[in-house]
Amino acid sequence: MKISQIFKNTDRTIFSVEIFPPKKYSPIESVYNKLEEICEIKPDFISVTYGAGGKGDQNQTCEIASKIKNEFKVESVAHLTCINSTKEHIDWQLENFKNNNIENILALRGDYMNGVEPKNDFLYASDLCAYIKEKGNFDVAGACYPEVHIQAKDEVEDILNLKKKVDAGAEHLISQLFFDNSVFYRFLERSKIAGINVPIEAGIMPVTNKNQIEKMVSMCGASLPAKFSKIMQKYENKPEALCDAGIAYAVEQIVDLIANGVDGVHLYAMNNPYVVQRIFNSISSLL
Ligand code: FAD
Repeated sequence: MKISQIFKNTDRTIFSVEIFPPKKYSPIESVYNKLEEICEIKPDFISVTYGAGGKGDQNQTCEIASKIKNEFKVESVAHLTCINSTKEHIDWQLENFKNNNIENILALRGDYMNGVEPKNDFLYASDLCAYIKEKGNFDVAGACYPEVHIQAKDEVEDILNLKKKVDAGAEHLISQLFFDNSVFYRFLERSKIAGINVPIEAGIMPVTNKNQIEKMVSMCGASLPAKFSKIMQKYENKPEALCDAGIAYAVEQIVDLIANGVDGVHLYAMNNPYVVQRIFNSISSLL
């Protein structure tokens, strides 16, 4: 089913989960057991990230998204990046998705890689959105950044660019992770003013270990509220307590988001079924 249809068919909060293919040299089967457990909670959909590691790696996105949809019977979304791809490569991927019954794509620009010349067939995610809509019968989603994309001049430029992505065909948006809900609510206001009226999901990452925090902040620049930093500092050397505190923090964020009527919550689950299940059990009656 197309994700836009799922949003249209319901007025409750959508709950989705993001997973990634296994690290290089790990067999693909290593994620299947975890995936089966995540699918038990029947999220509205599961999205599968798209690596920058070449055709073999990228093919795993399709393989895993296909398994989720065709075997575990949960709707899937395949991520697809374009900055380092030719049109021919994107055509090959779209064909691959179509042949595997995948109907939903998260269209992304992707990041520039050191030492790799961008292909320049697509400059922005909006170019890819338009191309996918022209090429096939796919539902297209896009990424958005409550704390502004790291390369954007300012929030006005970023929101106007986001509007271009929606005008190019993005039917729903998934946000970068954030730890301060008020940042997301301000972003929703800016989106409304810019005339963006597609559903927007809030990206939530339960932080369950110390390495994750440093990695996340350096990668996506999410700001850390004092309340969050205090919790993390207090339990940084107590792994079990840190995990409990990270889950509790994420649950509190999600409860507040649902109470404020957000369209959906997208959980950056780091392939961890235990964390997904604990969070889902705490909030499922609120959805
Ligand atoms: P764009 O929407 O193209 O935006 C990139 C920058 O260009 C922004 O600063 C924007 O303001 C500007 N811009 C956009 N359109 C225009 C325009 N028409 N004219 C001028 N400027 C413009 N990366 C991966 O490699 N694999 C993944 O699977 C993956 N999944 C992700 C999932 C989510 C939910 C999110 C939030 C991010 C994900 N990323 C992934 C990271 C993403 O690839 C990077 O954040 C990347 O830097 C930007 O991608 P984008 O699609 O948001 O780009």
